[in-house]
Amino acid sequence: MSQDYIVAKFGGTSVADYDAMLNCFNIINANPQVKVVILSASAGVTNLLVELAAGCDKNKRKELLEKIRLIQFNIINRLQFPEEIANKIESCLRHITSLSEAASLATNEALAAAIVAHGELMSTMIFTHLCKEQGCKVEYLDAREVIYTTGNFSEATVDLDATLANAHKVTSLIADGTTKVITQGFISSQLDEGKTAVLGRGGSDYSAALFAEIINAKECHIWTDVAGIYTTDPRIVANAQRIEHISFKEAAEMAIFGAKVLHPATILPAVRSNIPVFIGNSKNPDLGGTWVTQSVDNPPLFRGIACKRNQSLLTISSLKMLGTSGFLSKVFNIFTKYNVVVDCVTTSEVAIAITLDHKQNKGQALLENPALITELEELGKVKIEHDYSLIALIGNNLTATKGVASALETLDSYPIRMICQGASDHNICVLVKADQADNTIKSLHAALFEK
Ligand code: ADP
Ligand code: ASP
Ligand code: MG
Repeated sequence: MSQDYIVAKFGGTSVADYDAMLNCFNIINANPQVKVVILSASAGVTNLLVELAAGCDKNKRKELLEKIRLIQFNIINRLQFPEEIANKIESCLRHITSLSEAASLATNEALAAAIVAHGELMSTMIFTHLCKEQGCKVEYLDAREVIYTTGNFSEATVDLDATLANAHKVTSLIADGTTKVITQGFISSQLDEGKTAVLGRGGSDYSAALFAEIINAKECHIWTDVAGIYTTDPRIVANAQRIEHISFKEAAEMAIFGAKVLHPATILPAVRSNIPVFIGNSKNPDLGGTWVTQSVDNPPLFRGIACKRNQSLLTISSLKMLGTSGFLSKVFNIFTKYNVVVDCVTTSEVAIAITLDHKQNKGQALLENPALITELEELGKVKIEHDYSLIALIGNNLTATKGVASALETLDSYPIRMICQGASDHNICVLVKADQADNTIKSLHAALFEK
């Protein structure tokens, strides 16, 4: 009865130490319907591996490896029978050592992915051991045998058909009705050569939704360090309120505009297969959480506020634009040529302003590429400004409802560099200086959600 299966995913803080892992065990052990368990790397490990993968000198490598060892052995040393798993983790650490030596000579994306994937490999090995010690029937599965990808090694593209064809590798393990599968989020193997790739930072949520789709699960549970999706990041606004029930569309908007609680791609498999997603706090499962489903009754006008940091603003002004056709296509052809990813766009008769996300554009360097700027300068005067944040007010029916403009009144005291409204029914974006972002969010939140 595959429709009764649940996939549960635990993020980095949920598997950060022994006690946190024990909470995860208690959650999955209490629910016989949880059949597949997806883990992130223990908190901090992926960042350390990313540093190693970038290539660094011998002393730095030693320092980073010791930090990784400490995180993992702090967990292992609390196990009842640590010897066997200690040997496995030592072997992983030796592997990371030799790969990062190679990376220090010349790194590349495939090598980096092979290094970074060890975070999830180690956390799942340890957790499998912990579950067995606690008397739970579990099977370790290497996610690279299931999630097949192509393209870029650091943000690989899932080949859905090839991946779905691997369903039997999971279902055969849980067929006895009592076994749970423990596997990794974030990692995959490339379809052509079978090399390791990863799905992009925060990608374990996406893996969880994919596994849910693969086994035709009835629900996907994302366990993290907050008890659901809030009206805004509760780390910024202590008064943020939990959203009990939100639609896929609204949750996707929140995620796309920076709500880290859910990886933007997570929603894709869940929507495709109409699998409800639950988000809860692994340290406090009794607090309940947010349900994300296809639709909700009476969606509110304003749902939440999200924020994308590290934004640049590029403006091109030219009188040549006035009354002529084809100007914008020339601009966008140049962006296509240099693989520049564009976010928000506003235009006037003689100028165009575009926000650019550093992460999507692989850092600030691409945006300052002299060849790109030279080509754009042939069209007009080019200006690039950095240190902005894009704040998105997420809602419903925003282009057809009264009162939307007055929502922004509260921002009177902040200099707003750009406003984008009208393209989407679901968001209004304002671009502000990075150091003003948190205060802007607080004001907007107080006005719209704390009345
Ligand atoms: P995990 O490691 O479990 O994947 P993340 O750090 O990726 O966890 O996501 C959880 C974090 O998302 C929270 O600690 C919170 O600070 C942040 N976050 C951002 N926006 C929101 C929001 N609207 N609601 C809840 N959490 C949010
Ligand atoms: N461990 C990976 C990261 O830190 C993937 C994840 O946690 O979702 O980005
Ligand atoms: Mg995450």
